[in-house]
Amino acid sequence: MSQAQGTIFIVVAPSGAGKTSLVAALLQAEPGVELSVSYTTRAPREGEVNGKSYHFVDRSRFEGMIAEGDFLEYAEVYGNYYGTSARWLRERLAAGHDVLLEIDWQGARQVRKVFPEAVAVFILPPSIAVLESRLRGRATDSEDVIARRLSEARAEIDLVADYDYVIVNDDFATARQDLISVIRCQRLQAGKQLSRHGDAIAAMQSPR
Ligand code: 5GP
Repeated sequence: MSQAQGTIFIVVAPSGAGKTSLVAALLQAEPGVELSVSYTTRAPREGEVNGKSYHFVDRSRFEGMIAEGDFLEYAEVYGNYYGTSARWLRERLAAGHDVLLEIDWQGARQVRKVFPEAVAVFILPPSIAVLESRLRGRATDSEDVIARRLSEARAEIDLVADYDYVIVNDDFATARQDLISVIRCQRLQAGKQLSRHGDAIAAMQSPR
């Protein structure tokens, strides 16, 4: 039986919607899903580990990788480049692994042009007021940055209908369960189960 291709899950959210915590909870609950580690020109934040959080590279290396066609998608977000390795993704998919891309809306569009079957999930805050108070709660951003992030959030939310699934992150435990459900639901599709459990299923069917 040939190995089935894995599924690409794309998770997009406005800054402050709680995407990183939700994705971390999902990966813990579903260890079979692998997170793509992006390349970025942004400086590492405290606690971030090169090769784990991101592959941190300088601008000239990133631009060299663009020229080499190394990225499945890339985008400039808040003045820094971010991109997904095409080779890593194709290798993992071909080996039958499900992969998760935690990228911005521009990247999501590019990925879906190449892989229209990718499953795209949008995480919504319950309201702009809640998003604003979460952004303020971080206490790391200036008023200008908060205002810019809110207006970018509205622009991203304008495109919510482009996604396959929308999860409202009001209550974390519910949103976590919703995200896990989306992933499980895709993984349980008959075609995927047939390639995963082909021999066991054949053994239970009528003899040919
Ligand atoms: P941060 O700097 O806060 O880690 O990420 C900023 C934004 O860049 C987030 O929306 C994040 O999802 C997005 N991002 C991270 N990696 C990639 C990537 O490989 N491609 C694209 N297009 N966006 C990314």
